[in-house]
Amino acid sequence: MSRKQPPKERSWNHSRLIKADKAHCWHPFTPVADWEASEPLVIRSGKGVRLTDMEGKTYFDGTSSLWCAALGHRHPRLDQALIEQAETIAHTTFLGMSHPQAILLADKLASIAPPGLSRVFYSDSGATAVEIALKMAFQYHLQKAAPEPKRTRFMALTNAYHGDTLGDVSVGGVDRFHAMFRPLLFETVRAASPHCYRCPLRLERATCGIACLDEARRTIDENAETLAAVVIEPLMQGAAGMIAHPPGYLAGIAEHCRSRGVLLIADEVAVGIGRTGTMFACEHEEVSPDFLCLAKGLTGGYLPLAATLTTETVYDAFRGDSTDPKTFYHGHTFTGNPLGSAVALAVLEVFEEESILENVRTQAKQVTEVLHKSLSVSGCRIVGEIRQRGLMVGIELVADRATKKPFDASIRAGAKVCAFARESGLLIRPLGDVVTFLPPLISTSGEIDAMLKILVESIERFEKESPK
Ligand SMILES: *Cc1c(COP(=O)(O)O)cnc(C)c1O
Repeated sequence: MSRKQPPKERSWNHSRLIKADKAHCWHPFTPVADWEASEPLVIRSGKGVRLTDMEGKTYFDGTSSLWCAALGHRHPRLDQALIEQAETIAHTTFLGMSHPQAILLADKLASIAPPGLSRVFYSDSGATAVEIALKMAFQYHLQKAAPEPKRTRFMALTNAYHGDTLGDVSVGGVDRFHAMFRPLLFETVRAASPHCYRCPLRLERATCGIACLDEARRTIDENAETLAAVVIEPLMQGAAGMIAHPPGYLAGIAEHCRSRGVLLIADEVAVGIGRTGTMFACEHEEVSPDFLCLAKGLTGGYLPLAATLTTETVYDAFRGDSTDPKTFYHGHTFTGNPLGSAVALAVLEVFEEESILENVRTQAKQVTEVLHKSLSVSGCRIVGEIRQRGLMVGIELVADRATKKPFDASIRAGAKVCAFARESGLLIRPLGDVVTFLPPLISTSGEIDAMLKILVESIERFEKESPK
C-alpha cells in the first residue's frame, strides 16, 4: 500500500478564513447575530480526545464533536479502514446493487442488535434514519397480512428530538426548534416526557410508581387503533436537555405497544453505540424495538452514515416484485456508502478489541463520583440536578436550588459556563441552562479527571460571579 507522509502543516491565513466564513458560511443551530459578533473557533486538527485550533491552542473535545467521535479523533484503526477503502472504491450505489463493506456491516449489526432486528436499511444521518422508520411503520400497516390502514399516526414524547426533516420535526417537541414549522407538520399524539426533576404530574420519584407511564399507557389506549408507532429516545432525551427517564419506563412503553399492535421506534441516534455503557440503550431494559435508528457514533464521527434496523416481520410486508406496489420507494444517493460502511465496521471491531464498553462503565462511575462530590455534597448553589447515563451527562443550572427556579434566559447561564470552560481548554455545549458533557468513549481516567476539573471550576466560577 502506498502511503504518503501526512501533509506538512498547511499555511492557512486565519483571519482570512474567518472573514470568508462570515461572508459565505451559514452555521446550523447558530444565531446569526451571535456568530457575526463572535470570535469563531476554527478547528484545524484533532487527535484522541483533543482538538487543536488555528492558533495551536488545544482543547478537550467534551462533546465528542457533537456526540459523534466515540473513539476520539484519528484513531489509527479507523484511519486505516478509511484509507484502505479509499484505495478500493469510494462510492458505488446500493440501489439494486451491493458491495462488501455494507453487506459485512449489516451482518455485524444484525448479530449485535437486540433480538429480532435482522434487517438493515442505510441512510446518511440521524434525521433520515428516523424518517425512514416513520415511513416504514406507516407503510407496514398498509401492507401486512391483515392490513390496518387506519394506523397513520405516531405518538412521541414532549420535548422529543428526532432530527430536522419535516417528518422528524412533526414527532419532535422542542418548541424552540420546532414551533415555527407547525403549519407544515402532521399531527402527533403526545405523552408527557418522564422528566423527574420537573415532573409533569408534580410527583416525587421515590413514591410516584412511575405514574407518568400509566398516563402514557392510557394515551396509547385512547389512540390504540390509529397509532402506527410510538417513537422514543430510550433512557435519555438528549437535545431536550438530557432528560433521564426513570428505570422501567422504556420497558413499560415497549410492552404496552406490543400488546396494542403499535410498533416501537427506538431512536438511538444519540444513546446508541456504547454511549450509555451498553452497545444499545434498549439493552438496559431488555427491550427489542421494531425499529432501531443509529447514526452519530456509528462511524465514530468519521463519515455520515446511518442505519435503520428492523425485523423480518416488517421486511416481509414489503416483499413484492416490480408489478406489486409493495416496494419501499425511499432512498438516498449515498445509501450504504462504502467508505462510511468500512469505517463503521472498524468502529464495531474496536469496541470489541479495546473493551470500549468496559471503559465507558469505568469512566462513567468516575464521572458520577467526581460530579456528585464536587457539585452536590459541597452544596453548589446553582446546580439543580446532575443527570447521567453512562458517558452522557447533563448538569441543570438553576437560580435557586431549593425552588428549582430557572435562571432568567437573558443571563445565559449555560452559555457562560461553556464559555469559561472553553477559556480553560474544554469544549462543551449548553442546551439552554443544561451544561452537557459527552466525552469520547476512549477517554482515560486522567483525561476524564482533567476535563471534569475544568467543568467543575467553570460552574464554580459562574456561581461566584452570578447574582445571588
Ligand atoms: C442528533 C439526533 C438526531 C438527528 O441526527 P442528525 O444526524 O443530526 O440528522 C436524531 N435523533 C436524536 C436522538 C439525536 O440526538
